[in-house]
Amino acid sequence: MRTGFYWDEKCFWHSGGNYALTMQVSDVVQPTPNGLPENPETKRRLKNLMDVTGLLDQLHVQSAAPATTEQLTRIHPESYLKQFKEMSDNGGGELGLRTPFAQGGYEIAALSAGMATQAIVDVMTGTYDNAYSLSRPPGHHCLPDFPNGFCLFNNIAIGTEEILANHGAERVAILDWDVHHGNGTEAIYYDRDDVLTISIHQEHNYPIDTGDVSDRGSGVGEGYNINVPLPPGCGYAAYVETLERIVIPALTDFAPDIIIVACGLDAGPFDPLAHMLVSARGFAQMTDMLMETAADLCEGKLVMVHEGGYSEAYVPFCGHAIISQLAGSNITAADPLADTLEVRQPNLRMQAFHSTLIGEMAASFGFE
Ligand code: ZN
Repeated sequence: MRTGFYWDEKCFWHSGGNYALTMQVSDVVQPTPNGLPENPETKRRLKNLMDVTGLLDQLHVQSAAPATTEQLTRIHPESYLKQFKEMSDNGGGELGLRTPFAQGGYEIAALSAGMATQAIVDVMTGTYDNAYSLSRPPGHHCLPDFPNGFCLFNNIAIGTEEILANHGAERVAILDWDVHHGNGTEAIYYDRDDVLTISIHQEHNYPIDTGDVSDRGSGVGEGYNINVPLPPGCGYAAYVETLERIVIPALTDFAPDIIIVACGLDAGPFDPLAHMLVSARGFAQMTDMLMETAADLCEGKLVMVHEGGYSEAYVPFCGHAIISQLAGSNITAADPLADTLEVRQPNLRMQAFHSTLIGEMAASFGFE
């Protein structure tokens, strides 16, 4: 496999600055060194692990140019860009909900979006078979004019619009397996039938009031948005069954030109911001299933763009398992917590009530 890998040290320099501290300081809360649960270490440790195992040497490694104003304004209004840039030039601040940024945050967010866009373009045009962009800040919560949930530009939507406008794509499928609802991407494409959006998420986590199974899209977009809200405690078996019974049938019906994954790793078992049990092995299996689906539907064109994931200990192993699978590599990073998980977390395996629930949702979408 020719697998592109996009990263940039500058993405790790994004910071919530002093504004992050205002979110947690009180009489009884000791500030944490990084300020936010979203911090560089999860991403940096993933990249470092790939360096140590040698996986990085098997990939086509690069950065990218920042997304251009033309690319950004296909999704975000000029007024938002102006406000963001001014605040970024003047020490940083907070423009939405839980998205503080420091001086220079605008340029780093544009770089993060540019990396995702380049990864999507390079796979669409055949430069690489598949790709992974270690974008930071993440993007899937970001609405056109309202940043939220650590997301400042909607990276995947910006890349999607670029291939629709300039690289021959007509139908794009976006699967969001970040454990939180992809509310920004859903909102951007809610009334469109050329972009299928699917989000698998922990129900009522973040945002607390979006991501319902009945939100199917509107107008010509009716039926082109699929939400799969799962209860806390679902293991990888429940995710695999969701892929088998809902995601793959939906992708097959849609027949996309490319599949893009909003690749959050916060459905992992040690995540502080969610309560699921998808192990590194589970992420590898899900990646394998999507690679097979992409091979059947769209010449294997598959791009993953990093989203959330907050366990410094475990995110690197999940990311390594995914990227090794994408590259068809035999280099693995032995998951140090696998035995503990398999023995102590029976929910990793299928629970009957999870299966029933997934079956009910599949039927509601017309998949038997
Ligand atoms: Zn998330």
